[in-house]
Amino acid sequence: VAEIPGPYSIGSDLWPGLSRLVEELGELSQVAGKLIGNGGETAHYDGTDLRARLAEEIADVLAAMSFVADSNGLDHQEIEKRAEAKRDTYE
Ligand SMILES: [Mg+2]
Repeated sequence: VAEIPGPYSIGSDLWPGLSRLVEELGELSQVAGKLIGNGGETAHYDGTDLRARLAEEIADVLAAMSFVADSNGLDHQEIEKRAEAKRDTYE
């Protein structure tokens, strides 16, 4: 384990948390792929529940997004405003 955080890692000075966000997005994609590949059935062959895993990975992505926004000086109000507008288009 590296003692000095690499760039883009949590604790670094360059875009802290960005690498974790990408990692978590990958995990979310993996579970979504399993769910799609499983024909929407939530019981996975490895014994896990894909609905629960999807919720966990969404939570991980939300946490990573929030960390990246806070740690890199992004405007939370602008982000939430755009997110709400985007969500409205889905409805
Ligand atoms: Mg995760």
